[in-house]
Amino acid sequence: MIQPHGGKLVNQILSGDELDDAVARAATLEKLTISDVLTSDIQNIARGVFSPLAGFVGKDDFESIATNDRMVDGTVWTIPIILDVPEQDTVKPGQEVALCREGEAEAMAILKVAEVYDWDKQAATKAFFGTNDEHHPGVGGMYSRGDWLVGGDIFLIDNDRGPFADVNLFPAETRKVFEGKGWESVIAFQTRNVPHIGHEFLQKSVLGFTDGLLVQPLIGKKKPGDFRDEVIIAAYQTLLDNYYASDRVFLNILPTEMRYGGPKEAILHAIMRKNYGCTGIIIGRDHAGVSDPDGKPYYGEEDAIHIFKDFPDMAIEPFSIAGDFGYCTKCNNVSSDRMCPHQDQYISFSGTEIRQAIINRDTVPEQVMRPEVLECILQFDEIFVE
Ligand SMILES: [Zn+2]
Repeated sequence: MIQPHGGKLVNQILSGDELDDAVARAATLEKLTISDVLTSDIQNIARGVFSPLAGFVGKDDFESIATNDRMVDGTVWTIPIILDVPEQDTVKPGQEVALCREGEAEAMAILKVAEVYDWDKQAATKAFFGTNDEHHPGVGGMYSRGDWLVGGDIFLIDNDRGPFADVNLFPAETRKVFEGKGWESVIAFQTRNVPHIGHEFLQKSVLGFTDGLLVQPLIGKKKPGDFRDEVIIAAYQTLLDNYYASDRVFLNILPTEMRYGGPKEAILHAIMRKNYGCTGIIIGRDHAGVSDPDGKPYYGEEDAIHIFKDFPDMAIEPFSIAGDFGYCTKCNNVSSDRMCPHQDQYISFSGTEIRQAIINRDTVPEQVMRPEVLECILQFDEIFVE
């Protein structure tokens, strides 16, 4: 089994007497209201997804990540997990604070404040996203944060698995699953979409050289027009039940927000998958990338693949599959410009066309989407985020 990132799988989930004590103590502590984005960060820290982080990063690590893409101790880290506050004295070093979701009085976690420090947002966004352009969603997100950052360990009180509990195992649990299946190598496939035949081809291709495949939809904040989380999960469950060897594939969500950091976020995605027990991750073209308002991408198509060369000590391996894929009506199979010369006879896997057909509740050709998957999607009254 691959070692967790930094060598230790973090567990900051409180239980038993510690949990009872914390709940009682939290009621007496000063409260800090936490956004949805931070809620998933806090849960992920406590559940070991961000191992070896046991809390929000302090100033030394923050600056080291910005300059060297590594923490002070040398551990690879490319986009820091941060907690912001509006004022220097909002919280004080040494203080325990109750972290509460918006509109909720009960604490979801306790933060032990280690330090409060200022940050240069312009320098930070340039370092992490390669741009200061406020149209970039990751940059805009950082600009909207408070002027002070707080470092310190967190202790999780509310360990609710959310609406998709049966497919939301934590890293320690997926590691046990993989071990139980006897998988020594596991490759993660990240997705934010319903599966088409091209995805299936890619996923099954890697099963030729790995023991297991982890299909891992990213669950979190969505844009209007995106497929709803429950639709993506149900579509994958249908695909796996009907078309995959059940002892070779595992479906498990990753609740986290996209930061659109392109290559640096690809490294963060790989770190998280390593903690779940994966030995490899499929990196797509323009992975975690985004385009400016004029449609120009902020990152090169292959930046997220090439960046792995800079971190030979990552241990988890990136896989990318080159080619422009489609269903070739001459070869009668999924193919690419690298595999056959019939590009003019391809049926495209265009996401836009699939989406439009689903909006119109039209059919999608079997060469593009499995009929069971399409049927499953169309069963939902609300398919897209409004
Ligand atoms: Zn062909």
